Amino acid sequence: MNDSVVTCQRLIGRTAIVTASTDGIGLGIAQRLAEEGANVVISSRKQKNVDAAVHNLKAKGLKVIGTTCHVAKGEDRQKLFKLAESTFGGIDILISNAATNPTMGPVLDCEESAWDKIFETNVKASYLLAKEVLPYLNKRNGGKIIFVSSIGGYHPSELLGAYSVSKTALLGLTKAAAIQLAKDNIQVNCLAPGIVQTKFSDALTSSEVARTEALLRIPLNRFGTPSDMGATVAFLASDDASYITGETIIVAGGMASKL
Ligand code: NAP
Repeated sequence: MNDSVVTCQRLIGRTAIVTASTDGIGLGIAQRLAEEGANVVISSRKQKNVDAAVHNLKAKGLKVIGTTCHVAKGEDRQKLFKLAESTFGGIDILISNAATNPTMGPVLDCEESAWDKIFETNVKASYLLAKEVLPYLNKRNGGKIIFVSSIGGYHPSELLGAYSVSKTALLGLTKAAAIQLAKDNIQVNCLAPGIVQTKFSDALTSSEVARTEALLRIPLNRFGTPSDMGATVAFLASDDASYITGETIIVAGGMASKL
């Protein structure tokens, strides 16, 4: 992760929840939000990953706590919200970052069971997190919801067929929820990463052949980093983005996306 010093302090006094944040992009987002002054609640499925990430972020002097939360489990989502409220007094920012991809291949080759799992984690859990956090955001008279989609949501990858469709659904969820929640002073936006070097993208970034092929599609000629993603999310979570809602920002080094 890029350890350059962050001097913006746009999130002092805010509390953020970030799902799937003990590694990869979620960890990069959690770190950046905390560096900008937010109280951050990190989470993922495994206690040992939560313990390690909390330990490492606290060692950097950041205000972070953590708990286990499998985003598809209702009781885990409630535990996450309640921990944020009991520790930090409320919730201002939700980052819905968790996703799964149990299968590779073209969309119509996807087994029904894999399709259901992909949509349960990537789409349904995002919708439920957003719905269930509303009472907390309303208590603060507003807030921010940010979904993590993918460039595959715009350009479906043949290898990640069903996953890409689930990421397209998040673009629609962002628009629809933004319109519904505008009157409540809640802005809903979305991040669409390109190829970011994490465990999730290992198949695209680990071998020399795959790396070379993937880099040909990236004009900036490098993979994204979790801190690149954290920087954009911190902007969207801050008052600097208070007139932006219903939008998706593509952070992909110039990869082909949309006009
Ligand atoms: P990653 O490195 O594989 O992230 C893994 C993190 O997610 C770990 O903290 C893991 O911890 C947690 N996790 C996995 N399943 C979970 C679940 N069901 N509930 C809660 N936590 C869970 O993945 P990533 O690359 O950072 O991806 C993060 C997001 O960015 C995803 O939405 C992905 O679709 C999107 N994205 C990634 C790329 C890329 O190139 N990497 C590109 C476009 C979009 P535990 O094992 O402890 O649960």
